[in-house]
Amino acid sequence: MSATIVATTIVSGCSFGGEGDGVGWGGSGAHGQQPELGPPARALREYADGLRARQAARAAAAKRWGLKRTPLAAPPAPAVKPRLTTRKGFEVKGQKKLPPVFTTIPTKDKVVFLTVDDGAEKSPAFLRMMSDLKIPYTAFLSDYLVKEDYGYFKRMQDRGVALNNHTLNHRYLPGLSYKKQRREICGMQDVIQKRFGKRPELFRPPYGNYNRNTLRAAKSCGIKAVPLWASEGFADHMEWREWDKDLHRGDIILTHFRGRGDWKGTMPDMVRTVLKTATAKGYAIARLEDYL
Ligand SMILES: [Zn+2]
Repeated sequence: MSATIVATTIVSGCSFGGEGDGVGWGGSGAHGQQPELGPPARALREYADGLRARQAARAAAAKRWGLKRTPLAAPPAPAVKPRLTTRKGFEVKGQKKLPPVFTTIPTKDKVVFLTVDDGAEKSPAFLRMMSDLKIPYTAFLSDYLVKEDYGYFKRMQDRGVALNNHTLNHRYLPGLSYKKQRREICGMQDVIQKRFGKRPELFRPPYGNYNRNTLRAAKSCGIKAVPLWASEGFADHMEWREWDKDLHRGDIILTHFRGRGDWKGTMPDMVRTVLKTATAKGYAIARLEDYL
């Protein structure tokens, strides 16, 4: 049996299957039955043991954070990255030479991706909750909000979160000249590089609005891809952009750094809403960067 097939068996028989509650591994009796494992099998067993330990820790964290069901474990990052293309109807003239614009990543994995925008609310509980639950997410930051407290987002980055570009001032970009759009996008590249030491490769235009100049400007500032979103999480509900009002494999979920001033609840309430929805539908939250 090849290593790939072993891995698939382990994965599909266990916590990726969508049981939701607890560790979900059921019979792990195989351990005593295979005394002479070669190196690949041993590596797989270690992977499986690690996964089981991580899901047990996550189950305890889920209880602490008021989640009835434990978020599902994401599968390993795909070895072959999906080929990203612009969603039909989202193209601009000359799109092929510009960064792709998409709302869903083409994948067969039962995963969705969480993205958090702007930066108004700087909730320490949100940082703790996401680290505790080990839920990956990607931030799209706008400097006029982030500059109030760069330290908060530095702590986020230290916890393994990628900080990406959502412009300096959150303007409606199609209303601006190429030069002004470029200043909004390249300016934010410079801020993130200066404050956080890394130049983003992902850019999301404010309100999801863009034109050809936006993508040309983004490309010239070093942007490789423009992820939009397929649904949006709030503190007390989800909003759907797709006709079937559902999640799909590879969907990107948008939410915001917002608190009680803007919506009916806190950032942890928002996380609970998103996780409850994803887990109930059998989806794990995966790291967007793993698929790009
Ligand atoms: Zn925004």
